[in-house]
Amino acid sequence: MAEEKIENVVIIGSGPAGWTAAVYAARAQLDPVVFEGAPSREMIPGGQLMFTTEVENYPGFPEGVDGQALMMSMRAQAERFDTRIVTEDIVEVDPSSRPFLLRSSEGREIRARTVIVATGARANWLGLENEERLAQTGGGVSACAVCDGALPAFRDQVLAVVGGGDSAMEEATYLTKFAREVVIVHRRDAFRASPIMATRALEHPKIRVEWNTVVTEVLGEDFVTGIRLQDTESGEERELEVGGLFLAIGHTPNTAFLKGVVELDESGYVLTPTPWRTATSVDGIFAAGDVMDDYYRQAVTAAGTGCMAALDAERYLAHGADAEVGVEVPAEPAPAGP
Ligand code: NAP
Repeated sequence: MAEEKIENVVIIGSGPAGWTAAVYAARAQLDPVVFEGAPSREMIPGGQLMFTTEVENYPGFPEGVDGQALMMSMRAQAERFDTRIVTEDIVEVDPSSRPFLLRSSEGREIRARTVIVATGARANWLGLENEERLAQTGGGVSACAVCDGALPAFRDQVLAVVGGGDSAMEEATYLTKFAREVVIVHRRDAFRASPIMATRALEHPKIRVEWNTVVTEVLGEDFVTGIRLQDTESGEERELEVGGLFLAIGHTPNTAFLKGVVELDESGYVLTPTPWRTATSVDGIFAAGDVMDDYYRQAVTAAGTGCMAALDAERYLAHGADAEVGVEVPAEPAPAGP
């Protein structure tokens, strides 16, 4: 039996996009509710930044800020404006009913006039024991070179980047600013990256590639000291001393519950077809943050699109799907000159 209350805005996800959407929606007096997600082994409320120790590129924190502290501050800011928070997942969205019918992991049914999806994407990991432990404790293993590469611990070190796509090329090239040497470890004998990015990496004097090679073990107690490599052709194993390990083996958007609900691209990211808008293929459902952005993937861009989604939802509630508030297109071109 559905609960009687019809929510104006249900925000799904609790990373920078979700909390920013909540702050904007709450200040617009939409009385939002955030489903921040149920903690699990892979996911914890707060998103990717909960796994980041030091965030140095979020504006407003000249000394840097701890990722978890930043997320707790965003959560507190949303609560300050009376955002309601439910520590459950949304596991089902029925787009055919209006208001939308949502179901949570605890079996709760929610009716909502608008939905903002901000469930993010999770970095893929190799699944090695030490990898996960050291990534969570700031031990020199990271899935985001742009976030972590400039940390003092990585200066003048030999750094390894795993992957052969554009991200690996970009991260390896970025890391050359700080590293003594960058070693790309790739499981095949050819990159999947675009030729221009691959060439830039291959021609860089600080970058070399270990082809046909996989990482089988991450070495180090408190901080990574090396990786064990295996040649995929000969099976031969050896150790490589490194002072940092960066994974660039792709991301997986958290959209399993949205299949058949809104249009997704072939990798599962939510499509927002109109540039500079957060509307999805279903009127009244908006998307923000990494779940709709596999390109920038930064906390600050996620927060920006969270703001946009809340404004888009507010305008949709006030004016319907075709609202373009504030954009006046003159019927006739304005006369030129004074
Ligand atoms: P991707 O293109 O999916 O590449 C992932 C890479 O990781 C592949 O080389 C893959 O190897 C490797 N890999 C996957 N699982 C692995 C495993 N378990 N062990 C070892 N290696 C593994 O992902 P991406 O590089 O993050 O790029 C995602 C999208 O974003 C792409 O469309 C890309 O063009 C775009 N992007 C663009 C830019 C840019 O233009 N500036 C920058 C970053 C990303 P195989 O090749 O053998 O499959």
